[in-house]
Amino acid sequence: MKFAIPKPSTRPLKIYATDPTQGYEAALKISIAVEHENLTPGPVGDRLEVVDYDGHAKVYYDSVDLEDPAILTQGGLDPSEADPRFHQQMVYAVASRTLSNFDRALGRRLLLSRKKGPNRLRLFPHAFRGRNAFFDRNLHAILFGYFDADESNPGTNLPRQRIYTCLSHDIIAHEMTHAIVDRLRPFFLEPTNADTQAFHEGFSDIVALFQHFTFPNLLEREIQRNRGDLQTPTVLVELARQFGFAKGDGKSLRSALDSEAKLSDSVSEPHDRGAILVAAVFDGFFQTYRSRVDDLFRIATGGSGELPPGHLQPHLAHRIAAEAARTAQRHLDICIRAFDYLPPVDITFGDFLRALVTADFELNPDDEYGQRAALIEGFRKRRIYPEGVVSLAEESLRWPVAPDLPPMTDQLGSLLPQLLRMEADRFSQGSHDAVLRSRAESRLSSGAADAESFNIQGPLAVALEAYARQHREALHLRDDLPIQVKGFHAVFRTAANGRLLIELVAQLVQTDRTSQVDAMLGGLEVRGGTTIIVGVDGTVRYAIAKPLPGLPGALGAAGVERVERQKRFVSTLDRLNPRFPYMKRAEQIEVRMSIRALHSGH
Ligand SMILES: [Zn+2]
Repeated sequence: MKFAIPKPSTRPLKIYATDPTQGYEAALKISIAVEHENLTPGPVGDRLEVVDYDGHAKVYYDSVDLEDPAILTQGGLDPSEADPRFHQQMVYAVASRTLSNFDRALGRRLLLSRKKGPNRLRLFPHAFRGRNAFFDRNLHAILFGYFDADESNPGTNLPRQRIYTCLSHDIIAHEMTHAIVDRLRPFFLEPTNADTQAFHEGFSDIVALFQHFTFPNLLEREIQRNRGDLQTPTVLVELARQFGFAKGDGKSLRSALDSEAKLSDSVSEPHDRGAILVAAVFDGFFQTYRSRVDDLFRIATGGSGELPPGHLQPHLAHRIAAEAARTAQRHLDICIRAFDYLPPVDITFGDFLRALVTADFELNPDDEYGQRAALIEGFRKRRIYPEGVVSLAEESLRWPVAPDLPPMTDQLGSLLPQLLRMEADRFSQGSHDAVLRSRAESRLSSGAADAESFNIQGPLAVALEAYARQHREALHLRDDLPIQVKGFHAVFRTAANGRLLIELVAQLVQTDRTSQVDAMLGGLEVRGGTTIIVGVDGTVRYAIAKPLPGLPGALGAAGVERVERQKRFVSTLDRLNPRFPYMKRAEQIEVRMSIRALHSGH
């Protein structure tokens, strides 16, 4: 009798937990579980493709074959700075892990490409010589640079030691998040106000930092070392240490700990401003963590909470680490889930807070662990206030419920069930439940699911556009401008109480081209639009809008105010970069919207 061997749901791969040097000791090498998929040499998978062309040396390096039995039995190649094949493995592993975090929290399997057919995100571990790494939308790729450490102040590196940005967990996760954010909200790269690009930067740091807490070995070691205090500068809360030191700055690139930072108009550089968002989110995390481990400290100390000197008792360290990991994972999930509740354009940090609060309320109305309250408090401490709310009470922070509209079932008819089935199939392919997955595979190969998704997207977009046009007033859209439908997804999430929440999310965008001629806008167009959250019965539950000028009443006034804000911000940008006034319009836009330019000098 033959028994089928269940397909593995994950693949173990080794990485440097942070990067090849950690300052005070040899780098921690860990094994992480990444989603299992069939790989060809590269590695090349379903959504990611590593291309190891060295743009400086002009050579291709041999590609790693992670399906090679010799490599499989070792759980991947051992970490090595000298072997380009390990670099390929590490870039793939961390990028895949970052993607999985988004898949799980968003409740759907992300497609990284907007085009039909195989169009994977390409990762170039040795793309060029230089102290930079960046996601490039036009190349649909992440390019990692390498460089020699600073001669006079290399920190814990040797002078002129070769530094690879592709061996930094944080740099890989940060760039991968840029790529995903750009996929989810393509207009967030347009610098329409001081927060948009700062959000791109800050959010990418938030994901990279929280991922540290998902590595149990690293976490337990640091908790043991700092006796449970997470708010000391350690590799857990510091970002890209090796890179920062190698640049000659004498410190890590950035940190989650910024005790002073508060939001004000004077902070406009995107990384500095993004750091305030990071600090606000981490304030919330630290507060929740302290309240979650307080009882453990008390139990361990006979009620006093005062630890005796010396090492933490290992079981206590283990329990504290487990609680820190759980809390961090939940915070990361809350941050990622907020995405579906963000407006399609012109985001502010305040919008992010409102989206966090609304998305989490939908799943966990009771806020059992006090995480939502702690996040609100973190934002308040950093003076991040949303516009147009009367207080920071949770009820006023939640997006208002949409006005009563007829359900979409008339227009979308049979398309909705089709969309639901298709997305459920695709989601279960990426699911860690091997049984679900093999069932889905027996019905649809992944290629077929993709083809179907593009067949259904056409009619769905048409039907949705028709619905939006019919109800444009209630959805805060202008009647004289076309409506672009950007993305329409079904999402599946499990609430804390086990309830399954299924929703449909779409972004409706309008562009006011009459404003294009306005030089004050720095070549950027004026966009408005609405994100709609639709229940599975076809009713619109939330309509999260950024109104355009020209709409009636207060909405139009808010639109005018947004355009004025955009003008003011563009003039700030011009002052920050003295070369701007001498650039051609197309070049200005290119520089303003490029992550490469954002990262140079950082
Ligand atoms: Zn960045």
